[in-house]
Amino acid sequence: MKIGILGGGQLGQMLALAGKSLGHTFVFLDPAPDAPARAQGLHLCGSYEDPKLLTEFAELVDVISCEFENVPTQSLKFLAKLKPVLPNPDAFTVGRNRVNEKLLFAKLGIPAADFFELSSNFDLPRAAAKLGDKFVIKTCEFGYDGKGQQVVKSANDLKAAQITGPSIAEKFIEFTRELSQIAVRAEGGEMKFYPLVENIHTEGILFKTTVPANVSKTQDDSAQQYVRAIAESLNYVGVLALEMFEVQGKLYANELAPRVHNTGHWSIEGAKTSQFENHLRAISDLPLGDTEAIGFCAMLNIIGKHPDLKALKKINSSFIHLYGKQERPGRKLGHVTVVTQLQSECTAVVEQIKQVLRNE
Ligand code: AMP
Repeated sequence: MKIGILGGGQLGQMLALAGKSLGHTFVFLDPAPDAPARAQGLHLCGSYEDPKLLTEFAELVDVISCEFENVPTQSLKFLAKLKPVLPNPDAFTVGRNRVNEKLLFAKLGIPAADFFELSSNFDLPRAAAKLGDKFVIKTCEFGYDGKGQQVVKSANDLKAAQITGPSIAEKFIEFTRELSQIAVRAEGGEMKFYPLVENIHTEGILFKTTVPANVSKTQDDSAQQYVRAIAESLNYVGVLALEMFEVQGKLYANELAPRVHNTGHWSIEGAKTSQFENHLRAISDLPLGDTEAIGFCAMLNIIGKHPDLKALKKINSSFIHLYGKQERPGRKLGHVTVVTQLQSECTAVVEQIKQVLRNE
C-alpha cells in the first residue's frame, strides 16, 4: 500500500521503517528540505496549504495520515475528499487545541485540571480568581515540549504574564508522577493497549520513559477506560496517546496526541508489535498486532547535543536511534531504548546511558 504522511520528522521516519516489513511505501509532505524522513520515501517539499501540492500528494497514495497534529484542518478536509485520511480530521481539531481537548475530557467525564480560556491579557485576573494562585498558561495551539508555557505562582508573575494569542490557563497540578497510555484502534472498533508507562520531563521535554509503570489495577483500568472513551467518541483509527498526571493515586488527563507518541518509542524493540507498525496496521486495515512488552524497558531521549556514540554503542541491551538532525538546545536528536529481562538490569543500563548523555 502507498501511505502518505503529512510531516516528515522522526515519527514519519520511524513509521516508514516499520512499514517496510508490511510492504508499504511512503510519500511525505513536509516544508523542510532536510526533513528526517526524506530518505525513507518520496519527499514532496512545500506548504501544507498549497492545494496543488496537496492534490499531487493525494494522487500518489492510497491512504493519508499525519505525524503531527498541527496540519491545518482545512488542508485535512481538502485531502479527505480525495483519499481516506486516518485518523479522521475531527481528531486533529480536538488534538491540536488544548481548550477542545479539555472540553472533550469534561464531556466524557475524564478528570483534568480546572481551566480558564484566555482570549486577551484582560482575562488573566479572572483566570487567577477561578484557578487560585498557582496556574500554568499555555498557548491553545502549536505548544509542545513546554514551549509557549508560563507558570504563574505569585502576584508578580501574574503582573508579568502576557499572552500573545488564544491561550488556556490551567490549575497547577502538584503531581506525584506523569504517566501515559498509548492505544491503537482499528477501523472496526477493536482496541489494543500498550502498558501504562511512567515519564520524566526536564524543562517540559520528555527525558525518560519507564515500562511498565508501577501502577495499580484501578489506575490501569482508568487509563484504558479514558483512552477508549476518547477513541470511540472520535471514531478514531490509528494510534493515540493520553498524557496524564497522578495525584494521590488518581489520574488526571493532561494532553491528547492523535498520533504515534514519544512515550511509545520503546515499543520498537520492547513490544511484540511497535506503535509505528500498529498505527500502519490500523490505517491499512490489517489485523492489529500484540501490544505486550517483551521485558522491562526504558527510553531516554537524546536532547540538544549529539552524544559520544562510541561510548553509547558499548552499552549492552540498548538500541540507538538517530534522527539525522542538527544540534539545537532542546531539540530531540534521537533516543536510546533499553530492553532487559530483569528490572534491576534495566535500571543499571539506564544509569550507564545517562552517564554518557550527561557527559556531552
Ligand atoms: P504539556 O505541553 O502540556 O505536555 O506540558 C509539558 C510539561 O509541563 C508536562 O509534562 C508537565 O511536566 C508540565 N505541566 C504541564 N501542565 C501542567 C499543570 N497543569 N500542572 C503542573 N505541571 C504541568
